Amino acid sequence: MKDCFSSNTLLPFDQALDNMLAAIEPVTEQEDISINDAQDRILASDISSPVNVPPYDNSAMDGYAFSHHSFTEQQNLQLFGTSIAGKPFNEPCPPLHCIRIMTGAKMPIGCDTVEMQENATVVEQQIHFSAMRKLGANVRKTGEDIKQGQLVYQRGKRLNAIDLGLLASLGINAVQVYRKLTVALIATGDELKTPSETLNDGEIFESNSHVLSAMLHKLNVKVINFGIVKDEEAALKRAFISADEQADAIISCGGVSVGDADYTKKVLEQLGQIGFWKIAMKPGKPFAFGKLPNSVFFGLPGNPVSATVTAHVLAIPALLKMQNCCAIKPTTLRVICRDALKKRAGRIDFQRGIFSIDDQGQAIVRSTGSQGSGILSSLAQANCYIVLPSEQGNVVAGEIVDVRLFDQFIG
Ligand code: AMP
Ligand code: MG
Repeated sequence: MKDCFSSNTLLPFDQALDNMLAAIEPVTEQEDISINDAQDRILASDISSPVNVPPYDNSAMDGYAFSHHSFTEQQNLQLFGTSIAGKPFNEPCPPLHCIRIMTGAKMPIGCDTVEMQENATVVEQQIHFSAMRKLGANVRKTGEDIKQGQLVYQRGKRLNAIDLGLLASLGINAVQVYRKLTVALIATGDELKTPSETLNDGEIFESNSHVLSAMLHKLNVKVINFGIVKDEEAALKRAFISADEQADAIISCGGVSVGDADYTKKVLEQLGQIGFWKIAMKPGKPFAFGKLPNSVFFGLPGNPVSATVTAHVLAIPALLKMQNCCAIKPTTLRVICRDALKKRAGRIDFQRGIFSIDDQGQAIVRSTGSQGSGILSSLAQANCYIVLPSEQGNVVAGEIVDVRLFDQFIG
């Protein structure tokens, strides 16, 4: 039966991504959590600052605070008191007097300028400055970093280490975030063994679930790993039903191309609406996407490079949308390609590249060599994709190409 995700034609990459994103519904459930637990969580509401940062005028230096217009360079100032961080000097400072002040200490009333101690000579409570500062020098003004009421974060922000510190500096100890996603991982194939097993003839070690699980942890989702499921209808059906009951999204790898032993298609078509696509991209032509009763489904090709690249450039953007995360656009540069690249027109290529700056300071990219979709070692050496558009043919050495730098999910 045809469904809204079906397509018989070779789908352009951008269209496949757009179709998928259009079908993704972001989670709506929210929770209040401590900032101690908030790393990599997604903010569910805007945050405005409840306070000024800094909350009061204070000194940026260890030195002497005084009123700028009350004296001239030739004069001495009489020491009147001390203001240290956490112990402000609360009396007004009279003209021609100064207050010994430490970094971060509150500016005393009547003072507007600080001279650092290195420029001061002290003789019996009389302070003399070797140079005259400008009015307001070395003073950090109230609210100069953040003003009370100022919008600091917008909904959809993924909180990083610095954000948690900034929130703490505003006196915010709890935040409203979206709930975490749960993603189920299923590796399919009779030939697959875990790295702790012994291989029989015709078997290989399963690697995709390790790549995918690590990528998903960087997205800060809960991962339910179903491990290796045999190419058997009943086993696959059990795994998919159980995954659908527990997870927001299911990522499987293997069994999405047309092959006799590939039961995924048969099983999934019984359970939900799934499109088995041929995307005009390399690696990763076969790709499945659709909806099961409770979850969305991403069916990645089994070849390790194809599985990794499609997870990275297709599944991750969809999961980011599901998380409500304001996705940051990938960093793309136009640089000189030092190697000749083989490419056939008709599909967008995500070739594996090594981006660097050469001895002349020129940004360049080189190929990692063999680009077979099963050659994970070529991906392991790479730090970028060389993105060659669909209509592009072979690349000659010295040509300018688009490079998409690896981000935190794959790098
Ligand atoms: P498939 O998409 O199932 O036809 O698999 C394509 C190729 O990828 C085959 O050579 C498989 O042995 C290999 N493969 C499939 N799944 C995995 C996996 N999870 N880890 C490593 N290789 C895999
Ligand atoms: Mg297979």
